[in-house]
Amino acid sequence: MSASQPFEIVHRDPHSLARTSVLRTAHGTVRTPAFVGVATRASIKAVEPSALVDLGLQIVISNTYHLHLRPGEETIAELGGLHRFSGWTGPTMTDSGGFQVFSLGAAKEHGVGKVASIFPDDDARRRKTRPKGQSLVRLTEEGAAFRSIIDGSPRMFTPESVIRIERLLGADIIVPLDECTSPLHDEAYTRRAMERTHRWAERARAAFDLLRNDPTFPNPDQMLFGIVQGGAYEKPRKESARVIGGMGFDGYAIGGSLGRSKAEMHRVLEWTTPRLPEDRSRHLLGIGEIEDLFAAVARGIDTFDCAAPTRLARNGSVFLKGAPRHRINLRTAPFARDDRPIDPDCGCLACRNHSRAYLRHLCRAGELSFHRLATIHNLRFLVRLMADIRSAIAEGRLADLAREWNEAA
Ligand SMILES: [Zn+2]
Repeated sequence: MSASQPFEIVHRDPHSLARTSVLRTAHGTVRTPAFVGVATRASIKAVEPSALVDLGLQIVISNTYHLHLRPGEETIAELGGLHRFSGWTGPTMTDSGGFQVFSLGAAKEHGVGKVASIFPDDDARRRKTRPKGQSLVRLTEEGAAFRSIIDGSPRMFTPESVIRIERLLGADIIVPLDECTSPLHDEAYTRRAMERTHRWAERARAAFDLLRNDPTFPNPDQMLFGIVQGGAYEKPRKESARVIGGMGFDGYAIGGSLGRSKAEMHRVLEWTTPRLPEDRSRHLLGIGEIEDLFAAVARGIDTFDCAAPTRLARNGSVFLKGAPRHRINLRTAPFARDDRPIDPDCGCLACRNHSRAYLRHLCRAGELSFHRLATIHNLRFLVRLMADIRSAIAEGRLADLAREWNEAA
C-alpha cells in the first residue's frame, strides 16, 4: 500500500473483526485502535494540549455545537482554525452538533438524559411553561431550529450550514448533521429519523464536495465521515449501515442509540460493522468503558470517544487495573494514609510525583490541580491500554488480553 493512503490496515486478528490500522490525517497519523480524547470546547477540561502530547494522546474530538455558540466558527477560522487556535497540533475531529441540539434541547425536558426528542409544535407556548434557559428543538426536513443554551437566541443547523461551520473550524475529520434518536423511540420513528439522516448525509456530502480542497478554509484536507443511525433495531440499523456505507465517505462513525444493555450494543455493532466498507476507518461515538473497548474492538471498531474517563477523573475516580470496574475513588477513606502512587507502573505526572493520600487531599480540598492530575492519569491509562490492545491484535492474542482484564475487574 502507498504511504499516502489515508487509511491502512496493518494487522487483523484471526479470531475476531479486530484490526490495527494507520489513519493518516492532515495533522499526523493515528495508530488504531485508539481512544479519542473529548475536547468539547477545544479543550480537554483541566489539561492543556502540551500535556496531552506528553501523555501520548493521539487525537481529540471537539464539539461543533458548543464552538458554534462560543466563540463562533468565524472567530476560530480568523485565528487560523482549531489547531492554531487551541495549540493542539495533532489529529482532530469535530462531531456534527446533532446530538447536542437534541440532547441539550428537548431531552432535558423529558428528564431522560442522553435522549433525543422532538417538539414539532408551538414552542412559544411551551417556552412560557419552562424554566428560562431551556431550549427547544424544531425539526424539519430543512434542518433543526433550536435556541442557544448561552443566550436563548434562535439558531438553525442544516446539513449545509454544519458542513460550513466544520470547514471553518478546520478539524481533520468531520461528520454530517444527523438526528440522534433515543432508546425510547419506537422502530417506526427511528426509521423515519434514519431516512432523514440519510437525506441529510447526501446533502452534507454535496456541500462538502463543493468546498473540498478550498484553500480559503483553515484545513483544506479534511475527511468527511458518514454517520450510521438506525437505533437498536435490526432492520433500520442494517439498512443504515448499507446506505451510509455505500455513499463513499472517507470513514464511518456509528451514532445514535446503541440499545439499553451491553448485549444490545454488541448486537448493534454486529449488524453494522460487517456492512461498512472494510477499507475505511470506523469510529464509535460516545462509548468508552473498559469492557466496551474490548467488545467494540473485537467487532471491528477502530476509534472511540467518551467523556466519562475525564469526567470520572474530576469526580475523584481514577483508573487502576484490577480494582472493581478498574477504578478507585480517591475520595474514600481507605486512601487517607495511602502513600503509594495510584499505579506504580503508570508513569504519568500524577503517579510519578504524588501519593494517593496527597491526591485524595487535593480532591477533598477542591484544589484545581486535582482535576489536572487525575485527568492526566485516566487519559494515560487509556493510552497505555489501547497500545496493549494494538500489540495483542498484532500478536493474535486479543481474546487473552480481554479475558485477563475481565477477570481482573
Ligand atoms: Zn498515572
